[in-house]
Amino acid sequence: MRANQRITELAGLRGVHAAFQWLHLQEQRLLAWQMEMLRIPAPPYKEEQRAAWVRDRFAELGLEQIQIDAEGNVLGELPGKVRNGPITMLSAHLDTIFPDEMLPEPRLEEGRVYAPGAADNVAGLTGLLAVAAAMKAAQLIPGHTILFAANVGEEAEGNLRGMRHLFFRSEYAGRIRSTICLEGAGTENVVVGAIGSRRLQATVTGPGGHSWTEAGAPNPIVVLSKAIAAMERIELPRQPRTTWNIGRIEGGMSVTSVPERASCLIDLRSVDIDQLISLEVQVHRALEDAVLEANDDAGDRRLSLQVATIGDRPAGALSKEAALLETIHAVDRHLRLRTELRIGSTDANVPLALGREAIAVGAGGIAGGIHTHGEWFDPAGRELALRRVLLILLDAAR
Ligand SMILES: [Zn+2]
Repeated sequence: MRANQRITELAGLRGVHAAFQWLHLQEQRLLAWQMEMLRIPAPPYKEEQRAAWVRDRFAELGLEQIQIDAEGNVLGELPGKVRNGPITMLSAHLDTIFPDEMLPEPRLEEGRVYAPGAADNVAGLTGLLAVAAAMKAAQLIPGHTILFAANVGEEAEGNLRGMRHLFFRSEYAGRIRSTICLEGAGTENVVVGAIGSRRLQATVTGPGGHSWTEAGAPNPIVVLSKAIAAMERIELPRQPRTTWNIGRIEGGMSVTSVPERASCLIDLRSVDIDQLISLEVQVHRALEDAVLEANDDAGDRRLSLQVATIGDRPAGALSKEAALLETIHAVDRHLRLRTELRIGSTDANVPLALGREAIAVGAGGIAGGIHTHGEWFDPAGRELALRRVLLILLDAAR
């Protein structure tokens, strides 16, 4: 059966109506879940507390086979008519980029949520719970089993560890046929291509010394700055889009010391793997050249350079023939949404790089200030986005 026809039939089912009705009536509950989750910090590698909270919700909603796996992902099944076949996964990442000591109390003002992580990804987690709750309330039974996953390690140094575990080591690894990742706000967006990224920490170290008596000793901060200035001169192609960023720099000790150490964090991204490699080589060269130049007449007061890889995300793309893409288009036509195809760096990178079907979509509402302390989320329009997710999920799990 063609996708358009399948979606029309799905949308006509009494159970689907009941699930839509649940979503229509329960926005206050969703907002309450969102505020509760925002009070539980979940920085990279410290997602346990929020994971435990989500596990308790999974249990309340009546999901089955609930567990927190070896990596820290919270998993729960909604069994399909076929129980042991392939699985469709709906996921949302638990982690935020914010260290917990920086977390202010979330505020709700005129229906808008103000909190770091309000959209990315507590809106995604709220969508995950909402879809599970609506399906259970409506007693919907999918064709194949749906795995609900609140996974760890999407942001920054988490380096997709939660997804990697699910696709490489977990008991579900071979069974996940398609993956839908809920990522932040938005209704019409869909990520179908994975931006590859490499994240580096470059550290320059040296003997240091007193700023007066050791004046002239090679200075790691100066040398690192020269390397960064040289990176500025690297020519990047617009197409395929390739970018770099210095996201953090630190080093030194006091105004009267030649520093012993300086380091920075570098994010390199491209939709094209060859461009990514080329950029990384040029960044390495800029760092090495700056250190070599400083060491040229430094005698035994030499500097050294270490470059550590702190992140490595594969590139990949959803095939134009993918069943999931056909589903998305049919659902969006049915809901009169214009599909905005995008590329991104999300949990979907892992399955996409493996050639599996995966997308990332917004969990509804609008948002701003993502990855800043001014992040906000407005649930206006969330219901429509969650209907979309529900239809995509049911068709993918048919
Ligand atoms: Zn995110």
